[in-house]
Amino acid sequence: MIAVIENRRTDGGLAKTKRSGDVNDINAADSGLRLGPVSQLVVTGHEDLAALLSAGEQGFFEKAEALLGTVPEGFPSMWPDVAALDDADRRWFLRAVHLLTLNDEAAPEDFGRQGALARLARWARVRGSDPDADDGSFEREVLTVSGWAGAVLGARLAAPVQEEQARLRAVYNSPADAALDEKADGKADRLRDALAQTLAERAARWAPPGAGGLESDDLQRLTAMAAQVEAVVVDTFSPYVRARFDGPLNEEFHYADHVHSSVERPDDLDAQVSYLYDEARAQEWPGDPDELRQGLREWLEDDPEAAAEVARLIKLTPLHGLPDTAEGAGRYRRRVRFDEVYLPTDVPAGPPGEWRWELVRVVIHELLHRLAHPAFVDAARGVTRPLVLTEGFTELLTAEALAGAYGLAAAHPAVRQALVGEAGEPPARARPSGPAAEILEIVGPDKFRAAYFLGDIRLIGLG
Ligand SMILES: [Zn+2]
Repeated sequence: MIAVIENRRTDGGLAKTKRSGDVNDINAADSGLRLGPVSQLVVTGHEDLAALLSAGEQGFFEKAEALLGTVPEGFPSMWPDVAALDDADRRWFLRAVHLLTLNDEAAPEDFGRQGALARLARWARVRGSDPDADDGSFEREVLTVSGWAGAVLGARLAAPVQEEQARLRAVYNSPADAALDEKADGKADRLRDALAQTLAERAARWAPPGAGGLESDDLQRLTAMAAQVEAVVVDTFSPYVRARFDGPLNEEFHYADHVHSSVERPDDLDAQVSYLYDEARAQEWPGDPDELRQGLREWLEDDPEAAAEVARLIKLTPLHGLPDTAEGAGRYRRRVRFDEVYLPTDVPAGPPGEWRWELVRVVIHELLHRLAHPAFVDAARGVTRPLVLTEGFTELLTAEALAGAYGLAAAHPAVRQALVGEAGEPPARARPSGPAAEILEIVGPDKFRAAYFLGDIRLIGLG
């Protein structure tokens, strides 16, 4: 079931929609998971709870604590915190605790139940669901934000067996391939040629010379598109994408609120160097970051025409957020901000073309980076070719979500309209190959997703 996102902008701001988790989707056929206890989720336990509460709220809560084993010998009950909640928040919280006790058996031993109660108590104040709703939204929300869903999903998946581990190790430790060695020889010239070609390709797509020039696109259309992309991504990767209790999707993150016009991006020399540096890294150009950046800077200083073209394209192409940079220990450090995205509002004139689908692809890709679990991102630092994890996994998931977007757009005219407006059919795309695809082949889609979205890296043979 895909949510069709309406353009929600009113009075210059986007109205917030409450959201809840997607634990119901645990039964989605393509996840390959069959979680028996989830069928209990249709039982809210309302009547039972009324009986339990007849002994008083405190008595009920302390019983629940005992059942969940959240109060070690000699430690105080959490009740004073609960008693301090507003009446409505407390009622929601107690219903949530009851639901958790009903589903406790399904959770693994090491599920942090004390943390789960603390999270639910915090969440009670910003809750999005009504316990009396009969659409399962309360159950999904509680079991997601408590961390139950993530724990249950992780526990259902086993680490790769020995033979698979060996194959995975071979992929992770594969030496830089011949193409990379070649890149290292005569690097500066080759790098410039490669980047000049990339610039030409981008110009051809986003700012075709001659033709009809450029016209303005509406930032409001782009924010609506980003909201629809978010719905597609959630639809494609549930339950994993929502099961991380402290993930952006459970913290009132709306991608549409983070869309800016590329025109707003700085285009000075530093920004130009960063633009080329990101591209060089995406193409796996090896080398010391400082040297690479210095080489790019020299190129742009010597070649005003190239510099002008980079400055022009910064304003006309889609891109992730500006990096946080810091000079540390004499070395250049940077961290890309994936919580913001810049999209072109000056676009090729004429009927919208394939570039609109390309824009959808880029937005999916950048959103996925934002949704990657920090433990997954950290794991990339420990392997010979970190880009296999960071970009390779992201590209594979992007291809999958894009295929999902194609399907949904074909089935739902409103989804298609929100994604690409009047643009024609989506272009055919080759299935991504390479090391990340080999990893997916070995571990299968569930472990691949659990590693990426839940940070459970043992499932891909790391950690
Ligand atoms: Zn990327």
